[in-house]
Amino acid sequence: MPKFEYAPAPESRAIVSLRESYGLFIDGEFGPGVDGRVFKTISPATEEVLAEVTEAGPADVDRAVTAARKAYEHTWSQLPGRERAKYLFRIARIVQERARELAVLESLDNGKPIRESRDVDIPLVAAHFFYHAGWADKLEYAGYGPAPRPLGVAGQVIPWNFPLLMLAWKIAPALACGNTVVLKPAETTPLTALTFAEICQQADLPPGVVNIVTGAGETGRALVEHPGIDKVAFTGSTEVGREIARACASSRKKVTLELGGKAANIVFEDAPVDQAIEGIVNGIFFNQGHVCCAGSRLLVQESVYPEVIASLQRRLATLRLGDPLDKNTDVGAINSAAQLAKIRELSEVGEAEGAQRWSPPCELPVKGFWFPPTVFTGVSQAHRIAREEVFGPVLSVLTFRTPAEALEKANNSPYGLSAGVWTEKGSLILWMATRLRAGVVWANTFNKFDPTSPFGGYKESGYGREGGRHGLEAYLDV
Ligand code: NDP
Repeated sequence: MPKFEYAPAPESRAIVSLRESYGLFIDGEFGPGVDGRVFKTISPATEEVLAEVTEAGPADVDRAVTAARKAYEHTWSQLPGRERAKYLFRIARIVQERARELAVLESLDNGKPIRESRDVDIPLVAAHFFYHAGWADKLEYAGYGPAPRPLGVAGQVIPWNFPLLMLAWKIAPALACGNTVVLKPAETTPLTALTFAEICQQADLPPGVVNIVTGAGETGRALVEHPGIDKVAFTGSTEVGREIARACASSRKKVTLELGGKAANIVFEDAPVDQAIEGIVNGIFFNQGHVCCAGSRLLVQESVYPEVIASLQRRLATLRLGDPLDKNTDVGAINSAAQLAKIRELSEVGEAEGAQRWSPPCELPVKGFWFPPTVFTGVSQAHRIAREEVFGPVLSVLTFRTPAEALEKANNSPYGLSAGVWTEKGSLILWMATRLRAGVVWANTFNKFDPTSPFGGYKESGYGREGGRHGLEAYLDV
């Protein structure tokens, strides 16, 4: 299939007014950190410095937790649910009003294509606030008793793959249930969280209800280990998740962890191939594969293997990699030099272990961090690329003959976050779905998200659920 030439269609940056430097958002105001340390955030597509950001030290984290505690005790927990709902509705509407600005900023700071930040991330951010606004005055009907109580102050640490969306997943339910929060965005993607702080000001949210402390891993550690928080919510790597679980084990903090994944996307011989190809592409190349629930292990029934691989390769040759702000772009930049190094390393291991590597012809920009869409065939279950989370645009393909073999291979993973099943047979979908050890099972689709639907993992993918009625439990004293 020839790749059509498209004229560039760049989204304008003019809608974003970047500040030269950003302070910490504590008690409703932006201000400097106690020890004056700063770091720079760059555009991964060009390596251009976007802004200087404050690095919060333990004293700043302490100030933020104190502000959140005061707001919890004197304001937020005292408000009836219908009043909290008004603020959440207001935030949701402001997110919609500022959607274009937020989408451009997210693509600049993260490297993801504007098509995705504009059509997926930001609409879902608004949807999460709308959805949880609806719960705020109906918590007694959520199934957790007649008057479920909030936990108090939540310490929340989020990753860089969906910066504003992960913030929404954390802050919207916390606030709806009556908690206050201190949130740390990832070091490489702090800008939309800081803009969200402005939105809190714009919505007249009482000071201290939301506090944003920027920094790296050490700031996250200071937050989760702070004795003044009642709840820890973390999304990120299994390694750091383990550390956090250990640190909180001897405390009374309630913890939810959303960690890594190595999802199986299973294509049976009766699946509609064209649809399945779109699902495979969306499963692993959406957001450059920086997705915890990415369909990074493709399991194809042997009888249709040649057809599926040929179609997949044809389709991948049409993907456009490049400027995240170009509306034609399908695959954007890798988020950081460190992540690029990790993807390269694991891909080299894949080759060394004997798998066959393939990428479509694809010119990579000179500046920035880039990795082409990559498919490994001839992968066995023992290969590291079949077991470890690459967190990049790298697909490992395995085959199977029977549903039982597909199931066994799919479940043969330390992770258990998501899975996909492609078949025309409803009975087979149900048979697989009840036996797959995965928190989410998609049938004839992949990477579909909705605030009403609980999301979370089994095994090393963590514990606790986010979204839906189940997600409220994480922020209630039940
Ligand atoms: P991390 O798990 O290190 O980062 C997630 C968040 O936790 C970031 O805000 C990070 O800060 C913070 N953090 C780091 N160390 C600590 C700590 N000891 N205590 C509290 N918070 C901490 O992921 P990385 O960004 O380092 O990515 C490494 C690998 O993790 C990736 O290659 C990928 O495989 C996986 N990953 C999985 C994600 C998922 O959703 N499943 C999301 C992100 C990564 P900072 O960013 O400043 O380091």
